[in-house]
Amino acid sequence: MNLEEAKQYIQSVRWQYAKTYVTAPHEYTVLDWKPETKQQMIDFAKLIQEIGTKEQFGQKDFIILVIDNMKYWVMDNPIENTDLINRTYVDETKRKAIIDFVQSGRFNFIKSMSLSDIIKQIESGVTSYILPEGKLPQDFPKPSGKELDNFRTYILKFKWKSAKTFEKFSPHQYILNFPCWKMKEDEKCKGESEACNECNKQRTEFEKWILFIRKYGERCKMQKTVYTVLCVDGRQYWTMGDPLETTWVLNRALINEPRRIPKLEWLDRQ
Ligand SMILES: [Zn+2]
Repeated sequence: MNLEEAKQYIQSVRWQYAKTYVTAPHEYTVLDWKPETKQQMIDFAKLIQEIGTKEQFGQKDFIILVIDNMKYWVMDNPIENTDLINRTYVDETKRKAIIDFVQSGRFNFIKSMSLSDIIKQIESGVTSYILPEGKLPQDFPKPSGKELDNFRTYILKFKWKSAKTFEKFSPHQYILNFPCWKMKEDEKCKGESEACNECNKQRTEFEKWILFIRKYGERCKMQKTVYTVLCVDGRQYWTMGDPLETTWVLNRALINEPRRIPKLEWLDRQ
């Protein structure tokens, strides 16, 4: 198979979004959907192995082949057993937009949808992230791209809950960081004085990102209280409770949430 034939093959099969891999958006095609293309699928897998390049993902190396802004890879070994091919956008910004969008309240999951269907949904709504009005001073502290990426990875780990009592006038979501003895879950902690390893680990990580928000956040007045708020990817993140040891809640809300906008005063914006 040459590249031209590969392009024809790619066009001839269906690609479906892998919805269980929220943090690594990609789509795939499987042999079952078009068994008559078995040989082409194997030939394409071989082509990927032959002319593709190595790329690290997590702890593993993959051979990927880039064709028309998408990268393709296979997992099967031996290659003759290939019955699934993956692909995703080369463009990292696009992948990040998908990660955030599918977690937002705006995403409408449709069975058998493709990555391009998701992009269409994104583009039909918000095309770029909205920030509070005005600009932060030039010398305002900014996190590095890597720190921000790690923060994104952290916040993706949680299933955010909607704050029911605020739904009407200030809709937002939150996560809690209580030790298990307080949550009446696992109960591995030996009570207040001695948290279990898992709780300690989660607490350390939680506090790290609370400090991150407080370091890089800006001042925002909500009702009568001033909070330190960090804006990331269309959302604002803030915490309550000072000192750090008494901070249990991390909140977030959409920056462009119409029910919240009139109540907020961004004190550092000029
Ligand atoms: Zn515990």
